[in-house]
Amino acid sequence: MTPSAPPATRATALPLLASPREVATHCPYCALQCGMTLRETPEGRVEVAARDFPTNRGGLCQKGWTSAELLDHPERLTTPLLKGQPATWDEAYDFIVNGIRRVQETHGRDAVAVFGGGGLTNEKAYALGKFARVALRTANIDYNGRFCMSSAAAAGNRAFGIDRGLPFPMADIAEADTLLLIGANVAETMPPFARYLTEQRQRGGTQIVVDPRATPTARAATLHLQPTPGTDLALALGLLHIVVAEGLTDQAYLAERTTGWEAVRQTVAAYWPARVELLTGVPVADLEATARALANADRAIILTARGAEQHAKGVDTVTAFINLALALGLPGRPGSGYGCLTGQGNGQGGREHGQKADQLPGYRKIDDPAARAHVAGVWGVDPDSLPGPGLSAYELLDALGQPGGPKAMLVFGSNPVVSAPRAARITERLRSLDLLIVCDFVLSETAAIADVVLPVAQWAEEDGTMTNLEGRVLRRRALRKPPPGTGTDLAVMAELASRLGRTGDGRSVAGGEQSGGFSAEPRAVFEELRRATAGGVADYAGVTWERVDAENGVFWPCPAADRAGTPRLFEEGFPTPDGRARLIAVEHRPVAEEIDAEYPLYLTTGRVLAQYQSGAQTRRIAALPGGPFVELNPDLAERLGIDDGDTVRVVSRRGEMIAPARLVTTIRPDTLFAPFHYSGMGRANSLTGDALDPISRMPEFKVCAVRIEPVTP
Ligand code: SF4
Repeated sequence: MTPSAPPATRATALPLLASPREVATHCPYCALQCGMTLRETPEGRVEVAARDFPTNRGGLCQKGWTSAELLDHPERLTTPLLKGQPATWDEAYDFIVNGIRRVQETHGRDAVAVFGGGGLTNEKAYALGKFARVALRTANIDYNGRFCMSSAAAAGNRAFGIDRGLPFPMADIAEADTLLLIGANVAETMPPFARYLTEQRQRGGTQIVVDPRATPTARAATLHLQPTPGTDLALALGLLHIVVAEGLTDQAYLAERTTGWEAVRQTVAAYWPARVELLTGVPVADLEATARALANADRAIILTARGAEQHAKGVDTVTAFINLALALGLPGRPGSGYGCLTGQGNGQGGREHGQKADQLPGYRKIDDPAARAHVAGVWGVDPDSLPGPGLSAYELLDALGQPGGPKAMLVFGSNPVVSAPRAARITERLRSLDLLIVCDFVLSETAAIADVVLPVAQWAEEDGTMTNLEGRVLRRRALRKPPPGTGTDLAVMAELASRLGRTGDGRSVAGGEQSGGFSAEPRAVFEELRRATAGGVADYAGVTWERVDAENGVFWPCPAADRAGTPRLFEEGFPTPDGRARLIAVEHRPVAEEIDAEYPLYLTTGRVLAQYQSGAQTRRIAALPGGPFVELNPDLAERLGIDDGDTVRVVSRRGEMIAPARLVTTIRPDTLFAPFHYSGMGRANSLTGDALDPISRMPEFKVCAVRIEPVTP
């Protein structure tokens, strides 16, 4: 088999891009989606310049500055791989299509699964959901955003009837009198965001950070609460108890704009400050100071992130903070509210357009007959032909190759070998498949074990849209064509649908390259997305690429081209049947795996400044420092005979990791921290557990029980 360019069919031909010398676009990584300018030098090198955009205000972090280095990286894939060997696109497609047919004929349609990613553009996320339901006719599609945003999304939906990370523009954050951040380390994960925090403090605002580690974000705050891992829910209940006890609730707001207050009031009565101090380790005085700072502020904002959300009780934890915000009358009040900080690049848009197991475009529910009828109409298929809900991300990965589980999977924009919890087990599940197909531009750890790898374009080589953490739809613009031999995710889906003979009737595709009902052209896909989302919760019907260009992005919902976007939600009411926000009574509960004599320490995982997600991209950039490590407190280290830099083994009931020890006073003596960006023996997710939130199906990434020991040479 010899490598070759994709066959010159309409579906696989690369988009015909002009090759401008300079384009205004956005960073490929996190949900801040910093504005940047890409320039191609006469020698063909791509240079990055920061661009003044409302979110990053001319700032970039080191990940953004170095992002172009991957475009011409020597490890870039430029030919399909079949069983690890170079192949032609025709050979790869034939192998995939025959494999899919064989698996589905033998085991049924749901035996082929799809796994997407929160970094895919809106167009790709939309096309992937359609590809699964129309071309593969499988119920089994989910994505790695389930591991990122799902708890906040579920809590937002049940309280407000809508899930938009920030229901207000970021600029509001700098103007808050009191800001409470729970489990967010933006100083390292999205440094340009930290400018808003600095500005807020400089204006005299009070800033309170809740984190088991004294992160750079926590150290800069007015007050740092350092709870025992897994106790944020008790903390939130305790804060609301104090608000009630001190008569600080906004009774008029609760009466006019909410339901469910009485049950919540009764529940929080059991979380008196001394009990909450015992549960969380946070002193009563700090609890009281936090509650009063929020209640006495004219403008107060509460923000959660992965530290509060990546738990088997993540939905209830976020709900408890939303209850606190509602009791104080914050959501919908100018300059105030609750929000969550989305992490992945298109973590917001990626969860709106149908790559979730239970969802159709526009944030529609797949089991809603009206939603099915609308989307089926756009897709040109019979509503009854659409599958129902499939398995959630971890359950899907855990079912791979098992009796009754999927036997084949296509992966787009994800690297679950590194990023999934209980990763050794998930890797074995992936290996047990009859057919694993990965679309990527480098040989990620997941691609390395795939039967077929399809090399695809990078962010600077494709047009499309992303939706940032504010719900602002942005334009991603191509600087240059993808390298010879590579395809695009959209072209792959279109070609596979065509070869499978399952394209819908194509009525929905307007213009551009077409392959039946699937287009390889992002703009045509976006036009279809607009129709598919029309009337849904996440309504993009009025968003056009021209408007996005002209207006510095458009905030959804935007139901018509002659209507403005919606930067601020909830000013008039909530998108619930009665227009009121719903308070839901929740109770604290212990972590899924408590520490004991054998595993006496908590492990919490997270991110570092120089790396992004599974590290498949950033670990390949030489200028970005990296390498796994384990943080522990010097008191603990002394007790165990561990010095700074010693190689240590961390062991949980599921596996172990080996990495250098870092002694830091910024962590609790009962807790270890390890970044999850690394693979091999440094893989932190070898340790994490698979307890899932009962509603969001979010795994408990943020806490598990471990022991640590020095590794003797
Ligand atoms: S990684 Fe995030 S914070 Fe850093 S430059 Fe990119 S978008 Fe901005």
